[in-house]
Amino acid sequence: MGKKIVKIIKIDANKCNGCRACEVICAAFHATPKYSSVNPARSRIQMMRDPMRDIFVPVYAGELAKAECMGRNVYIMDGRQYDECSFCRSACPSRDLFKEPDSKLPLKCDMCEDDPPQEEPLCVKWCLEDALTYEEREEEVEDDVKSDEMEMGIKALVDKYGLDNVVDTMARMSEKG
Ligand code: SF4
Ligand code: SF4
Repeated sequence: MGKKIVKIIKIDANKCNGCRACEVICAAFHATPKYSSVNPARSRIQMMRDPMRDIFVPVYAGELAKAECMGRNVYIMDGRQYDECSFCRSACPSRDLFKEPDSKLPLKCDMCEDDPPQEEPLCVKWCLEDALTYEEREEEVEDDVKSDEMEMGIKALVDKYGLDNVVDTMARMSEKG
C-alpha cells in the first residue's frame, strides 16, 4: 500500500457573493501563454448563479461524463430550490459547461498545478469572501493505482511543452526500449 494526497476545495455557498473572481483567475492562469487572456468560459470553476433566488454555487470541474444521467436530483436547502445540474462537476453531453469554447474538449480542475507549485489553488487565494477553502487529505492506495497521477503528469507535460513534443519524446523513449 502507498499513500496519495487527495486535494479538496471546500465550498461554502452561503459565503459566496457571486463576484466571479475565481472564474477570472482560473481562466487567466490556464490561458496560453499564462495570463495572456481572460475568458471565463475557459475557467475550470463556474458560478451557478441566480441572484433573484439568492443562489450562488461555485462548482469546480471534475471528471468527464460521457453520457447524460438517467435521472437527476433536485435539492431544496434553506427553502431554496437548486436546479437539477447545479452541483454537478462534470462536462457532459447535455450542457456546454466545463468545455473549452473552441474545441469543446472537456475542462478539468488541475488544482492549479504549476512549477514551482502554487501555495494554494488560485481560486481559493482570490476568493476574498473565504467561500473556498483548500484542504489536503492522505489516503491509502494500492501501489499500482497510479492512473490519476499519470494522467495529471502527462497533462502537465502537454500544457508545458505541447502535445507534439510530448508524443515525439515518448516515441523516442519507446524506440530506445
Ligand atoms: S471568488 Fe469567492 S465569492 Fe467570488 S464568485 Fe468565486 S467563490 Fe464566490
Ligand atoms: S483550483 Fe485552479 S484549476 Fe481548479 S478551479 Fe481553482 S483556479 Fe481553476
